[in-house]
Amino acid sequence: MSTTPRVVIVGAGIVGANLADELTSRGWTQVTVLDQGPLPLTGGSTSHAPGLVYQTGASKTMTEFATYTVEKFSSLHPGEGWCFNQVGGLEVATTPERLADLHRKQGLATSWGVPGEVISPEECAKLHPLLEPDRILGGFHTPTDGLAKAPRAVLALARRAEGRGARFRGQVRVLGITQRGGRVTGVETDHGEVPADIVVSCAGFWGPQLGEMVGMTVPLLPMAHQYAKTDPLPELAGRNDEHTEAKLPILRHQDRDLYYREHVDRLGIGTYAHRPMPVRLSDLPALDEPSESAMPSMLPFTDEDFAPSWEHTTRLMPALESATVETGFNGIMSFAPDGGPLIGESPDLAGFWIAEAVWVTHSAGVARSVAQLLVDGRSEIELHGCDVHRFDEIETTPEYVEETAARNFVEVYDVKHPLQPKFSPRDLRVSPFHARQKELGAVFLEAHAWERPHWYEANAPLVKDLPMEWQPPARDAWAAMYHSPIAAVEAWKTRTDVAMFDMTSLKRLEVSGPGALPFLDRLTTNKLDKSVGSVTYTLMLDEAGGVRSDLTVARLEEQLFQVGANGNLDFDRMRRELPEDGSVQLRDITGGTCCIGVWGPRARDLVQPLSRDDLSHEGLKFFRCKQIRIAGIPVTAMRVSYVGELGWELYTSAQYGQRLWDVLYAAGREHGVVAAGRAAFNSLRLEKGYRAWGADMTTEHNPFEAGLGFAVRMQKGDFVGRAALEAINPESVTRKLRCLTVDDGRSVVLGSEPVFANGVASGYVTSAAFSHTLGIPIAYAWLPAEAVEGTQVRIQYFDRMVAATVAAEPLVDPDMHRIRR
Ligand SMILES: Cc1cc2nc3c(=O)[nH]c(=O)nc-3n(C[C@H](O)[C@H](O)[C@H](O)COP(=O)(O)OP(=O)(O)OC[C@H]3O[C@@H](n4cnc5c(N)ncnc54)[C@H](O)[C@@H]3O)c2cc1C
Repeated sequence: MSTTPRVVIVGAGIVGANLADELTSRGWTQVTVLDQGPLPLTGGSTSHAPGLVYQTGASKTMTEFATYTVEKFSSLHPGEGWCFNQVGGLEVATTPERLADLHRKQGLATSWGVPGEVISPEECAKLHPLLEPDRILGGFHTPTDGLAKAPRAVLALARRAEGRGARFRGQVRVLGITQRGGRVTGVETDHGEVPADIVVSCAGFWGPQLGEMVGMTVPLLPMAHQYAKTDPLPELAGRNDEHTEAKLPILRHQDRDLYYREHVDRLGIGTYAHRPMPVRLSDLPALDEPSESAMPSMLPFTDEDFAPSWEHTTRLMPALESATVETGFNGIMSFAPDGGPLIGESPDLAGFWIAEAVWVTHSAGVARSVAQLLVDGRSEIELHGCDVHRFDEIETTPEYVEETAARNFVEVYDVKHPLQPKFSPRDLRVSPFHARQKELGAVFLEAHAWERPHWYEANAPLVKDLPMEWQPPARDAWAAMYHSPIAAVEAWKTRTDVAMFDMTSLKRLEVSGPGALPFLDRLTTNKLDKSVGSVTYTLMLDEAGGVRSDLTVARLEEQLFQVGANGNLDFDRMRRELPEDGSVQLRDITGGTCCIGVWGPRARDLVQPLSRDDLSHEGLKFFRCKQIRIAGIPVTAMRVSYVGELGWELYTSAQYGQRLWDVLYAAGREHGVVAAGRAAFNSLRLEKGYRAWGADMTTEHNPFEAGLGFAVRMQKGDFVGRAALEAINPESVTRKLRCLTVDDGRSVVLGSEPVFANGVASGYVTSAAFSHTLGIPIAYAWLPAEAVEGTQVRIQYFDRMVAATVAAEPLVDPDMHRIRR
């Protein structure tokens, strides 16, 4: 008898079917897939998906999900016809901004391994003869993109999974999740109970309903999106038969939020150009026998919403002027607050998982990762942008989800700058210094609903005082967006006088109790069993040695630690690892506390006179912390610096925050203090070689590759990931995170650009900035280990190549003189 767990998958759409296939292929054969609709056409989103698969996305993870979908569906041959039709993809530009962005996208494609090139209007028209070349400026052609026949793929995957023992049951509605002792025991259905050790909800936009059954918030909004078909077009007559369906590349006209595919001799048109149409699940048609034209996931077509899209379609493809829209529907799909998928296990009910807000495009990749999580405990592709626990509480409220998801719908095809903040909602989370920051003309960007100053207009008058060697070169229009030369002033003042940085938005966790030390010691790589007052930079790894996070752990008391973390995923991970005996307490203290980084050569001159505590180098050494008072305010001072300067992170409770800011700022005047924002901060941290988790390294990298071997103490005893590290020789890793300097001294890249070594795309940029201290643009990039110091490389930036050189790091203060004094 098999000993693999019993898995119930709720939903036989493209995600559920892929998951059944992935699990059974790994030997987990006790899989039951339940769907409220009939099989195989359940009436969910998959049943009517036009199935365009564009692989290239802004994120490596999403692109790799899609690439796997293409690979897998191309290998499915169910007999009824193709599951993937590799007609290629074409995205056209009708504006110079879009054309430039297509070049950027071609760079992303190269970074993530998808072939593609930007081509002329004439070449576009050759590939897609309905296009009027005079109406476009060019296009991005991706020959490996194409069409997924999602319902047929479901059938093929279901058959394959059934062949390995899985069961698919239609018209069985899951009504509840049964549980005992904090674990799932099965599902309750309208046909009785089905026992299970693991339940995975792949219920698509019904996801929140399933989540509710176990008290889990699933932050997605079902929204309608229009899809229409023309009548038969003479231009397409005789080109395809019912079997091939399509030969022309799938087409996107993103300047007008439109996409197209062939349906034999008709053209299918999808549009996001209409108003957001959120849908209440209670308003859906209940159809027991869905057909191709009537399903629960289809609402009636609203012609008036489609009218502008039709006009733009006929402008792009004048041959359609004599055509008409024959059929259409408003189909329902899921939108999450940041547009990403939602993957993960319930925090409260072990064994209850979700895999939702997933497009057909990413379905096989997502399913493979979920199967790997279940079977191996780890996905080979890193998932931080997909984990349902990436959101903070405020980001999962219905109000927030509704507003952000609707906004994502509107912006789905917009040219998006990597720094572009959310348009709304704003001012949700502000530090206690917010009022003062506004007085100083702070320009705020946003992250996880926090308002974060990027620079302060109050520092503008200092631009004229910048010494020659600190004056940054002019940036091109793209690199200049969400940036200001004022950042140069703030960096200059940090390196030469002193600056105040608002560090409040960084996640802070409190870990306490008799078990706190062994708990943190087991979860992280560095030695934490040090005296009270120690501060330690350490890594959280997964079992395979991948970097799950980097943390700063301060031992405030014997049994009390403050942990500087990267986000809610760290909190979620720690919560899951808490021992059951109650010996460790974990609290997220971010909202109740705040932090000012006071850094610069004059930091001590500023802070010491305000405090009776000894802040000399001996009184509070580097990587030590202590409780002090500043102007009578209780403060935890940590002698650390993410910007590589003398100074402290000063923590206090939120109630004292503004007062702390005021006394520091007032006392700082005579020392030339400025408030400094994240634009300067990012430059300072990068030139000092300090990595940012999520951008520079993830679970896909081990500490030795990432240049973080110094934070690993193999001698300290066991810790998560240790066994995997033992098998790695730090000297023989095949890739490394490298520091690059840009040869021309002025081309600032932004991140994710491909890097060519010996003319071959060999890696990609993780973080980049202008180093104000050195007066040159710099970047970090993943490259083969052979790309040692001095290696000449080229970074593709839009349609040009930027020469760069692998440099020794850190570029600034490698001997730590600036910090340790
Ligand atoms: C008009 C339109 C066009 C689209 N075009 C594309 C495209 O070109 N490319 C692309 O990649 N994506 C596209 N999408 C998105 C894509 O169709 C969906 O994201 C995808 O099909 C979702 O798959 P799923 O398996 O998660 O959900 P679904 O296919 O909706 O499956 C979920 C299943 O769960 C079942 N279920 C729900 N609740 C219960 C319950 N309580 N008990 C039992 N069963 C339950 C449902 O019946 C359903 O069958 C489009 C969507 C729309 C609406």
